Amino acid sequence: MIRLHVSPDLSTGTTVAPTMDQSRYLTQVMRLKLGDALLVFNGRDGEWRCIIADILKKGVILRSEEQVRPQTLGPDLELIVAVVKKSRVETIVEKAAELGARRVRLGVTQRTNVEHVRLDRLDAIAIEAAEQTGRLDVPTIDDPQKLATILEDWDPVRRLMFCDETGGAPVIGAVTRPGPWAILIGPEGGFSPEERDRLRALPSTTAVSLGPRILRADTAAIAAMTLWQAAVGDWER
Ligand code: SAH
Repeated sequence: MIRLHVSPDLSTGTTVAPTMDQSRYLTQVMRLKLGDALLVFNGRDGEWRCIIADILKKGVILRSEEQVRPQTLGPDLELIVAVVKKSRVETIVEKAAELGARRVRLGVTQRTNVEHVRLDRLDAIAIEAAEQTGRLDVPTIDDPQKLATILEDWDPVRRLMFCDETGGAPVIGAVTRPGPWAILIGPEGGFSPEERDRLRALPSTTAVSLGPRILRADTAAIAAMTLWQAAVGDWER
C-alpha cells in the first residue's frame, strides 16, 4: 500500500491536506480515487490508514480512519559523514534512511573539498526513502558543521564509531555495546593526522576498520551502518 509522510498531527477522523505534489502523485501517478486507502505517518503518531475523502482543485483531502502501527523509533544511530560529491551525499542520505539512521550530520573536515549542500533536496530524499522502507520516522539531516565543533560539543553518552582507513583498528568486534552511537566517515582525502589523533584521543571513540580495501565514502557509510545494525542494532530477527 502507498505510504505518505505528512507533517500535521494524526488521530482518528482528522482530515489531512497533503502537499500539491503529493496530491498529484496520489491522483495522477498512482491513480487513486475517492475512497481509496493509503498509509500515512508523521514521525510522531505512528502509522494511520487514511482514505481519499475529497479531491479538490487545490489538492486532495485525506481522512485518517485508524492507527495501524503505534509510533516506534529505531535504534539511536547517527551518521556523521564528511561532505563529499553531491551525488554521493544523496546516495548516503538515502541509504542512511533505509539502514535506520535517526540523524545524518554533514561534517566539514580539513580535507573536505565540497561545502555547499541543498538541504531541501536531501530532506526530500530522506522522506522518499523513509516512505519506501516502511520506517515510522524520517532521519533529520543537519547542515554542514566543522568536525572540530562536532567533537567539541560531543555528548559523552554517545559512542563514536570512527571508521579509520589507515588500519590498525579491529573490524566490528569492538562494537558490542548497545545504546546511542554515531558512525564517522571521512572525505575522499581521508582524515588528516591531527584529526585522527583528536578522534582517537576522544574517550567516546571506538576506532573500527572496514577491511583491507579503501572504500569510497558512500560504500564505507553503507558498510559501517550494516555492521553496526547487525552487531548492536535492530537486526536481531
Ligand atoms: N583518502 C583515503 C581514503 C578515504 S575513504 C585513502 O586513500 O587512504 C573515505 C572514508 O571512508 C575514510 O575516511 C574512512 O572514514 C572510510 N573508509 C574507507 N575505507 C575504509 C576502511 N577500509 N576501513 C575503515 N574506514 C574506511
